[in-house]
Amino acid sequence: MNDWPIAIAHVDGDSFFASCIQSVYPQFRDKPLVVGRERGVATAVSYEAKNLGVKREMLACDIKRNFPQVIIFDSDYHLYEAISRKMVAISRRFSPLVEVFSVDEVFIDLSMYLDRQEHLQIAKAIQYEIESSLMIPVSIGVSVNKTLAKMASSANKPHGYTIVSKKDIEPFLKEQPIDAICGVGRALNNKFLQYGISTAYDLYKKPLSVVKLLYNKNIQKLYFELHGEYRQPVNCDLKDSYQSISTFRTFPSPTTDKEYILSRFIHNLNLACFKAYRYKQAPRKVLCFLRLQTMRHIHFEVRLRSATNLSGDIFKQVRKLLEKLIDSSKLYRQVGVVLTDFVDDSCIQQYLFEEHGERSNDLKNSIFSIKEKYGVKSIYWGEEHEFALFQLPTHTKTRVNDLFVAGSVC
Ligand SMILES: [Mg+2]
Repeated sequence: MNDWPIAIAHVDGDSFFASCIQSVYPQFRDKPLVVGRERGVATAVSYEAKNLGVKREMLACDIKRNFPQVIIFDSDYHLYEAISRKMVAISRRFSPLVEVFSVDEVFIDLSMYLDRQEHLQIAKAIQYEIESSLMIPVSIGVSVNKTLAKMASSANKPHGYTIVSKKDIEPFLKEQPIDAICGVGRALNNKFLQYGISTAYDLYKKPLSVVKLLYNKNIQKLYFELHGEYRQPVNCDLKDSYQSISTFRTFPSPTTDKEYILSRFIHNLNLACFKAYRYKQAPRKVLCFLRLQTMRHIHFEVRLRSATNLSGDIFKQVRKLLEKLIDSSKLYRQVGVVLTDFVDDSCIQQYLFEEHGERSNDLKNSIFSIKEKYGVKSIYWGEEHEFALFQLPTHTKTRVNDLFVAGSVC
């Protein structure tokens, strides 16, 4: 069993509104405070105030009377928003695939990292960057989907991190009450209790047939996610139901070799384009990504002249920028590509072939058929070949008009 088919991190600000106040007024750090004076109730409570027994939704007048040492602040939504934006920007230093879930929560797709050790290292690095630069404590959960990642970030608060791989799911769920699952409110909690479900593990252990009989599609989706399936993708752009196809490859060892890096980029691009073609999608945007040995990453985004899932065409448009970005004095460990902003493949303007019309569409379909039959590496566009076949001896490449075909297919 692959323990990490997908890796998603959930980053959650601890007592966020109260922490924002403490971050800009250092004199109130480590002091008990609540936010929400203008509403007359506590909308956020610092950990110092929680330790005294102050709770959210407590009336401000009761807090004043019973906890005179607690300082009560007005809400400052501009401040929360400004700090939230910085938190998102820091998260994007670690992955281009970031979903803003709420003002103090983000999901980060970390599938480009390989194992538990790397996930732990990244979780600690994200936490350190946010806490040291913004003075906002955060808790982080990393797991194989969003539901489990969110439960994991809540499991060890404040300033904690919890990693839940596929094999950790059962012991982890035994410790989680049913309302620890995102989306389980009071009414649903009561409904679960009627059927003897009080922990997340109780739901996990129910047979699928029973879950299908008793619960709606949304709860079934949660059930599948408790079993480690990936049912809710990280949504990087909330505005227009954006989806993405991404491929990342870590090099066997860090390298400064520009040609090798470009060859790996082209391989990733071909895999992503092939997947887009299979889904009958064509991206309008492409994001190129490089990770340095220092774990920092650099990336740039290009809006394509027209939607296309032809890797050769995309490479033409990003090549110069990519070559400029690779600094041969630096060590790189990973390269990746993200295709986004899709349109239906059948609706795209075939500008590349426009003077040839349908015949060229046939050519495109033939190329993808060859890839389907012989593998993605079997055929490349002319623009790609000098890097794509980088590791193959010269005699194994054959030029067919503007295409280069690997030896095994000829
Ligand atoms: Mg929070």
